[in-house]
Amino acid sequence: MKKIKINIGVIGYLPFEFDRTKILNWESEVFEIVGDIEDYHFNNNSDTMEWGYSDEILARELPNQYEGDFFVGITYVPIEDNFYARRLSNNRLILSYFEMFQILKCENIPVENLLLRVLYSSIIVYQRNEQTIPKTTDWIGFTHDDTRGCLFDMNGNKSDVVFSLDSPTICDKCITNIREDKVSDNCISTIKKEIQKIKKERFYKISEFVKRKPVLSIVISLIFGVLVSLTATVIYEIFLRNMINAQHSNVYTPCPSNFTNVSAKVIEADSIKDSEL
Ligand SMILES: [Zn+2]
Repeated sequence: MKKIKINIGVIGYLPFEFDRTKILNWESEVFEIVGDIEDYHFNNNSDTMEWGYSDEILARELPNQYEGDFFVGITYVPIEDNFYARRLSNNRLILSYFEMFQILKCENIPVENLLLRVLYSSIIVYQRNEQTIPKTTDWIGFTHDDTRGCLFDMNGNKSDVVFSLDSPTICDKCITNIREDKVSDNCISTIKKEIQKIKKERFYKISEFVKRKPVLSIVISLIFGVLVSLTATVIYEIFLRNMINAQHSNVYTPCPSNFTNVSAKVIEADSIKDSEL
C-alpha cells in the first residue's frame, strides 16, 4: 500500500503544549509525515463577526507550496462558522483548537488525538474523492449527524468529538459508503486497526473506571491487596527464611565448655598474681 504523504504546519501561536514528536513518531502503514512540523505566522487579522478567520483569509495564510499530497495546518484562532476543521483550496485543511483545547482538557484527552483523528478522516476523504481534498463549501456528504464514535461523526455540537477520540471506529454505514467509493478493504481494515491506538492515557482510563464503578474498584483493590500479601508471605517462607537461616548457621558461636575453660584459666592467673603480691 502506497503511503499518503502529509505536511503539517502550525499557523500562529499555540498557547498550550503540543507534543510534535508524538505525531512525527506515529507509526502508520497508510500515511507518513513529510519533514518537520513547521511554524507559520498570521499576516492578517480576523475577518468574521466572531473574531474568526474565514476560509478566504486562511487560504492566504497557509502555504501553497508543499511537498506532500496534502497539507494540514493547526491553529488556535476561531475559524469560519466556528467549525473545528475546514477544508480549503489546493488540498489543504485547517484544524482549530479554539474551544477544542478546553473540551479535550476537561475530558483528559491528549490534544494530539484530535489531529490524528483529522489526519485519518482526511486520508479517507482524499481517497474517496479521487486523490483530492474538496473544499468544505463543496458538499460531499461523508458525515452523519448522529454521534456514533465514528471518524465521520458530524459533531455539530463540538463537544461530541470526545466520543471519537478514545479508540474511535468507522461505523458499518460509513464502511459501506467508503467501499462504494473504491477504497480498498485492506486500506479500510488498516485504518480501523490504527485508529484504535488513538487513546486516552492509561491513568485517566483507570481513574474513570474507579469513578464509574466505585464498589467494584474497592473489591478489586481488596483482592489485589490480599494477593500481594500472600505473595509476600510465600516469598518470605520459600526464599528469605532459608537465606536468613543459612546466614545464622555461618556465624561462629563459641562452645559453652570453652567459656568455662577460659574463665577458669583467667581466675587461676589472677590468683597467681595475687599470691605473688
Ligand atoms: Zn460513520
